[in-house]
Amino acid sequence: VLKERPSVKDVIEACGVPHPEVDLILVNGQPTNFAFVLDGEAEVAIYGTRSRSTFFPKDRLQIATAESFIADVHLGKLTRNLRALGVDVACSHPASDKDLLDSALAENRILLSRDRRLLMHRVVENAYCPRSDQPLAQTLEVIVRFNLESRLSPFTRCIRCNGLLQIASKAEVIDKLEPLSRIFYHEFRRCLACGHVYWRGSHFDKLQRRVDEIRARLARSK
Ligand SMILES: [Zn+2]
Repeated sequence: VLKERPSVKDVIEACGVPHPEVDLILVNGQPTNFAFVLDGEAEVAIYGTRSRSTFFPKDRLQIATAESFIADVHLGKLTRNLRALGVDVACSHPASDKDLLDSALAENRILLSRDRRLLMHRVVENAYCPRSDQPLAQTLEVIVRFNLESRLSPFTRCIRCNGLLQIASKAEVIDKLEPLSRIFYHEFRRCLACGHVYWRGSHFDKLQRRVDEIRARLARSK
């Protein structure tokens, strides 16, 4: 039910579109913002971020790029894919929606969620709702939406906890290795936050295939 003098945000979200997905609002042909109050008859047009380069570039409501994100617990594979590419993605589990929103706000992180009601919350400023239910496609969506491609840095971040990885010598990590790994592998990275050790031959080969596939798909999508 709409209030008597609804804001543009109220009207748009009554149609099921979360406000972080709206990049441009035209009321009677003029750009405006979410707080604009509709009074009487008006023609309202809304546009997503894909139209950015074509018109009203200075009146856009969403940011073009971002460095840090927070994903809701249902996007675990997307979270791990982005971390494998070096993107800073905190995760919510097992937090309430309120904790998730508080963290996004306090740490200035972009909220990633497919929960449209959550994205409509008034405290949400920047967010993205992945369209696909496939983690690989979702990963591409986020990279394209926030222009991350040139800043990807694979194998610099822990896929488990989002901590930064540091190159470690075999001597430093030897007590965490399986006997065969001690013999065959010589390149190691260790998470500065949780201490998890990664090495070529095990984790990195699998991750490398995923990274290669993501890069190949990005190249094809141009
Ligand atoms: Zn870690």
